[in-house]
Amino acid sequence: MAQAAAERITGAENVVWDLSIFYTDVDDPRIQQDMEALTADVDAFAARYRGRVAALSAAEVAAALQDLERLHDRAGRLSTFAGLLYSTDTNDARYGALLQKVTEYESELRQKLLFFELEWNQADDAHAAQVLADPALGKYRHYLEAERRFKPYQLSEIEEQLLVEKSVTGRSAWTRFFTQLTSALRVDYDGQQLTLTQALTKLHDPDREVRRKASAAITAALRSRTMELTYIFNVLAADKASEDKRRGYPTWISARNLSNKTPDAVVEALIQAVTANYDIVARHYRLKRVLLGYDELTEYDRYAPLPVKESDTLYRWETAQDIVLKAFSAFSPRFAEVAGRFFDERWIHAPVTPGKRGGAFCSGAVPSAHPYVLVNYDGTARDVMTLAHELGHGIHFYLATEAQGLFGMYTPLTTAEMASTFGEMLVFTDLMAKEPDAEARLAMLAHKLEDSFATIFRQVAMNRFEDGLHTARRTQGELSTDRINALWMDTQRAMFGDSVKLGDDYSLWWSYIPHFLHTPGYVYAYAFGELLVLALFNLYRERGAAFVPQFIDVLAAGDSDWPERILARVGVDLTDLNFWNQGLNALRELVEQEEGLARQVYPDKFA
Ligand SMILES: [Zn+2]
Repeated sequence: MAQAAAERITGAENVVWDLSIFYTDVDDPRIQQDMEALTADVDAFAARYRGRVAALSAAEVAAALQDLERLHDRAGRLSTFAGLLYSTDTNDARYGALLQKVTEYESELRQKLLFFELEWNQADDAHAAQVLADPALGKYRHYLEAERRFKPYQLSEIEEQLLVEKSVTGRSAWTRFFTQLTSALRVDYDGQQLTLTQALTKLHDPDREVRRKASAAITAALRSRTMELTYIFNVLAADKASEDKRRGYPTWISARNLSNKTPDAVVEALIQAVTANYDIVARHYRLKRVLLGYDELTEYDRYAPLPVKESDTLYRWETAQDIVLKAFSAFSPRFAEVAGRFFDERWIHAPVTPGKRGGAFCSGAVPSAHPYVLVNYDGTARDVMTLAHELGHGIHFYLATEAQGLFGMYTPLTTAEMASTFGEMLVFTDLMAKEPDAEARLAMLAHKLEDSFATIFRQVAMNRFEDGLHTARRTQGELSTDRINALWMDTQRAMFGDSVKLGDDYSLWWSYIPHFLHTPGYVYAYAFGELLVLALFNLYRERGAAFVPQFIDVLAAGDSDWPERILARVGVDLTDLNFWNQGLNALRELVEQEEGLARQVYPDKFA
């Protein structure tokens, strides 16, 4: 595939970004000069403010933050340049060396500047409240307010130091052991020794026998390490329980919600809405079973490709640009105008080239520059949607940076996909409307739905598993493998209903998922982001043009306030089940559309 991809002419071959706003090349002597000058300025800043932050007035804090913002901006120019250059050719040793150098340099700077946040958090509550209430703080208010949200849960300095020190041989040691164990795990597939990742890929194979054997082999590999994996999960759940208790977090998920800037009640409403709509998943998989022509769908058929002809349309780069800009323009001229700059001023790196990193991303860069987008463009409909997705991120960064500056340009994970997924939906809707072939439309829709399911329902089912695991560990003590298996199967079966038969073999499949251990509670944020956009998209369909300026205002707000307060500006109440239900209804409509198309394309299968 990669071979064919590189040879296919798409018109994107020469679409490469212009980094001259930073430096001319990897050897530009100004890089070293800038690093030295910045170090001196950072030292001067530290000498000026260290030991004084907790007592500064609002106007003084604002002035200091303005300086700090400029320092971060200058550091960000170096790391953006090094990072972007490296991503275009990861095999170029000069790029790798520059990136490494800049990364180490930045971490040194960060350590020198860390005192500012720490000292601000040491300010007593009365003084902090006075500073935060002062209009002189301007755009820096929320940044300072948010910095203090962990304060009620902080322990004494010596306790904090001990926790960090002991985590090296505690939490970090156990997660590293897990990583080593699962990386070393070999899956015996017909005598071939596959890694877990290679074996999991086989679940997407069109041949059912390949999938069945891979699935059984993965189970066997996991079973060979059950004792260790169960023990690691138990230790880490207990470790989290004791730390949460000491810090005073009311539930296992509270610390995660706090870092996502999301109140517990909002997360509860999201989970409740999604779990109450699990039947959407079952409907899609029932349809998939019929299309595949099976009597029953099993756990190893979940990722089976549909036997549906995909569109073979090649979207040339100019066409993609045209489609995206027209779809954006129909939504909002501002969207099209900002996205247009990415094309006109060469803020995009598009071709598939040797050594270039895979996938796609958008770098927000820094306020003194502008965002950049990287894609690996091969001319498929999916690539057009990916381009729209990354440009959506670009628009979000652009608007937020312009309005809020560096401290307000990065939103929490839960709202970070707001413009990207929205932009993708605009183009998806457009491409669907343009595709004349019903079978190709069915393929597009099925892809879209399975992507959304993986992001929404699978993550929420995993959240339910985590909830069960942590709650049980806290109330019942050490858990046996069978007990954890039962929690996994109950929460997975709840989602699939009777649409997929989950065999006993599947009961161990919780044990290799790294998110549960590395970042407990993390998974729901994916569901949050995707469903939020589906619901917002629905609001757009309902309200039409009136929605557009409100949405742009929300995007431009960036990270300048708590997400639920920013979203209240479009009249959204995140604690309201009905809001989340709107997103789920949009998904339900897509499944109905999928069912209709399937009946139209394959009437005999539904006879
Ligand atoms: Zn994204």
